[in-house]
Amino acid sequence: MNDNPESILKLAQAEFASIMDATELEQAKARYLGKGGAITELLKGLGKLDPDARKSHGAAINRAKEGVEAALAARREALAAQKLERQLSQEALDVTLPGRGQDVGGIHPVTRTLERIQEIFSSIGFSTVSGPEIETDFYNFTALNIPEDHPARAMHDTFYVDDAHLLRTHTSPIQIHYMMENEPPVKIIAPGRVYRVDSDATHSPMFHQVEGLWIDEHVSFTHLKGVVAEFLQRFFERKHLEVRFRPSFFPFTEPSAEIDMGCVFCEGEGCRVCSHTGWLEVGGCGMVHPNVLKHVGLDSEKYLGFAFGMGLDRLAMLRYGVNDLRLFFANDLRFLNQFK
Ligand SMILES: [Zn+2]
Repeated sequence: MNDNPESILKLAQAEFASIMDATELEQAKARYLGKGGAITELLKGLGKLDPDARKSHGAAINRAKEGVEAALAARREALAAQKLERQLSQEALDVTLPGRGQDVGGIHPVTRTLERIQEIFSSIGFSTVSGPEIETDFYNFTALNIPEDHPARAMHDTFYVDDAHLLRTHTSPIQIHYMMENEPPVKIIAPGRVYRVDSDATHSPMFHQVEGLWIDEHVSFTHLKGVVAEFLQRFFERKHLEVRFRPSFFPFTEPSAEIDMGCVFCEGEGCRVCSHTGWLEVGGCGMVHPNVLKHVGLDSEKYLGFAFGMGLDRLAMLRYGVNDLRLFFANDLRFLNQFK
């Protein structure tokens, strides 16, 4: 057995320097400093020496031990540095590479249509208001002059939440909330989602409406015609868009009318979109029924006004030439990307 501390130290230094792996290094350490390691054995042997020899030999062993420990620490550090170096070179990120690119998103055609509508109405003095999508029977029907057993209720295929609540079938209940909370003059539009049990190419169980309401002391049907015509001309960017009002029936207005406009696809010649009539239906309107004013606590002798409602999705379809309503809600990126 080697009992020269200096040569043991040299051996250890040479061995550590040749080791390339951290686990191997720890095994090598045990051969010198572990239980039964070369340095440990030398220290054990000290007890057999006389005091003077023990002192000088002990000092030499301790120097060797410190040397081994220093060599070990240096090698550990070197191996760790090599490992880090390797890792860094493997996981290197080349910041000079061109990026993958970020697609620019677009605004959904329905949102885009809504923003356009708000902009036009805002410019003629209408503010935008909203209301809850879950309604009570009173706001959705009764207050709008649609009492129980009224046949108009059957026209609205309603989703009921429970005995007392339903998903609003139109945006008109927003008018009721607003008129109950605000004194006239009232000049608002109320866009929003509405729900009906219905689904095909031109109907979706959820769709959007926009409602308009103007209540004051001297609002007439002439104002109604002017506002609606002005809006349609600006929305479709036509200076000479024909608009006509056909007598109709709605429980919440009297008199009531359907709003038609000249077909923007064939300019009135007749095409598939307008069923060869030259006209497109875009909404309903009328003078607010006195019973509706009474329900919200307004004096129907003093105040009067008009209301109109249009399909927001229908306006978007006509403006962008989309023939299937369901495309708006399918979230197909191939479709939506066209509106960037
Ligand atoms: Zn047409």
